[in-house]
Amino acid sequence: MSLLTPLLDLLFPPRCIFCRSRNHLENEIGTVCDPCLEEVSDPQNCCRRCAYPHVGQAEVCSACGDRAFSFSAACSVSLYRGKLKKAIHKYKYKGGKDLAGPLGQLVSRQVRRSQWPALGAVVPVPLHPDKLLERGYDQALLLAQVIGAELELPVKKSLIRTKSTDSQTKLGAAHRWNNVAGAFDTDPDIELPKRVLLVDDLLTTGATAHFAGQTLLKAGVGEVYVAVVGR
Ligand SMILES: [Zn+2]
Ligand SMILES: [Zn+2]
Repeated sequence: MSLLTPLLDLLFPPRCIFCRSRNHLENEIGTVCDPCLEEVSDPQNCCRRCAYPHVGQAEVCSACGDRAFSFSAACSVSLYRGKLKKAIHKYKYKGGKDLAGPLGQLVSRQVRRSQWPALGAVVPVPLHPDKLLERGYDQALLLAQVIGAELELPVKKSLIRTKSTDSQTKLGAAHRWNNVAGAFDTDPDIELPKRVLLVDDLLTTGATAHFAGQTLLKAGVGEVYVAVVGR
């Protein structure tokens, strides 16, 4: 906190990033009000493996039963809908770069709650250079930096995107898998710890996280955990 913060707070009182309320902000996040925090917290009945919602009594969803993801477990702030979807959209497509702070804090809170074994580094899912040029910032890297600071872990930009998977959202689930296969490589000069936290804004089919994770495992990482904002 800088010396200016109290003054800035007085001039521009903090508001909830979701509902713009100025009330009930005295919590660990500070920019998400208590009712919104409650609403975007802890999706219930999620797959223990990939955080897919509504699995009912089963511990893992049917997709995880059939397919072995490269990552050991995943967590998200909440489901990609409602106010969280709006915030992610603003963050990614409407220049809402400042949302990296609160969204990264929300993800960190979820990682702490997941009680995973000790992690050694945060690795962002890389953005293709063309995309970076278009957006002006790398949304997964900014999140990873906030999460690294929150969890006191180094951020390692070890993953490199070797092919653009631009049209990802327009493809069907099966095509997404083929589209992302072989899209990543690692930087051999960056040393990686035994256990890493892979960070992205979204987890949908899990294809991106799977292949990014697989690339990290091939590079010698023992276990990959995944944390995202929306699921
Ligand atoms: Zn709110
Ligand atoms: Zn699952």
